Amino acid sequence: MYMPDRHGESILPKINIVDLRTEYRDKRFKGLFSQELIIAIEDALSNKEQVLLFQNRRGYAPTINCNICGWQADCTNCDVHLTVHKAFHELRCHYCGTRARIPAQCPACGNHDLFEQGFGTEKIEENIKEMFPTALVARLDMDTAKTKLAFENILHDFEEKKIDILVGTQMITKGLDFDNIALVGVLNADAILRYPDLRANERAFQLLTQVSGRAGRRAKQGQVIIQTYSPEHPVIIETMHHLYNRFFERESAERKAFRYPPYFRMIQIELLHKNAATCAHAAATYADQIRKLIGNRILGPAIPSIARIRGQYIQTITIKMEKDTKIVSKVKKIIMEERDKLRNMPACKTVRVNVDVDPY
Ligand SMILES: [Zn+2]
Ligand SMILES: [Zn+2]
Repeated sequence: MYMPDRHGESILPKINIVDLRTEYRDKRFKGLFSQELIIAIEDALSNKEQVLLFQNRRGYAPTINCNICGWQADCTNCDVHLTVHKAFHELRCHYCGTRARIPAQCPACGNHDLFEQGFGTEKIEENIKEMFPTALVARLDMDTAKTKLAFENILHDFEEKKIDILVGTQMITKGLDFDNIALVGVLNADAILRYPDLRANERAFQLLTQVSGRAGRRAKQGQVIIQTYSPEHPVIIETMHHLYNRFFERESAERKAFRYPPYFRMIQIELLHKNAATCAHAAATYADQIRKLIGNRILGPAIPSIARIRGQYIQTITIKMEKDTKIVSKVKKIIMEERDKLRNMPACKTVRVNVDVDPY
């Protein structure tokens, strides 16, 4: 699991949590920024200090839709929405690379007033430039820093103080260790907390701690403002108070209780096919066969949160085992033998089976 690592003797930053529910209720919320964050940005700029703004989504908005007929911009190959990229004048799929024009009107009903839902780094950059027109603003994400050189150029400009406010995805945690960052703003922590993964909490704690850590300076305490709809979430509280030990103990207890690694061994099986029924049939057949031989160590088949990627439907089977070499090798052997049998069945032979041992 993650161990925090801070360079030098810098002071831990002061972390403030902004509850977006009360911000909205009391009408203090302006666009994407709480009043507290706006004031903190103003302060940093007037002290000639630098600001980092973090959002874990690139692009302008995660999707575009029609409020009249319910149309949504979806990828034709994947079960995900297309992301709006205004800078490229395109909609893009972040899974398969599909690109489409941003429609001027709803393709289903002709409505001209399409709604961009949510926000990514591009929209933050646009809004912050409007609010602070004299500030030097730049963006660091997979779109602006596609090459190593582009990435280094942005870091160099930041170091040379040619950038006052840097907006970015988790890329900003890589290589940014400068002494002039007074403020880090996390615009929406909920997108990190809701990651559909067994390691969601660990990822969230790690990311929030790493992002916050950019605000630590050797001479002066940095400030972090985390905007969230879930201020009571244990990961938020542990991040806020730097409670690494409490995070570790709580997370360990949960993993033990739910038979997760590192206390149990795990095998994740993924079945893929372009036909949903074929995929489901193969997954059910395979799981039934394995279940007969290893009993309740197997879970599934289940449909993952993204059910189709690049035209392939996906089903998953999870196996959790005691940490016992004999049991693990027996289970592995059964999985491989049953996979071979599956491949010999006419109805299942075109189904791809990926076996991932200890995926986490
Ligand atoms: Zn419509
Ligand atoms: Zn796609």
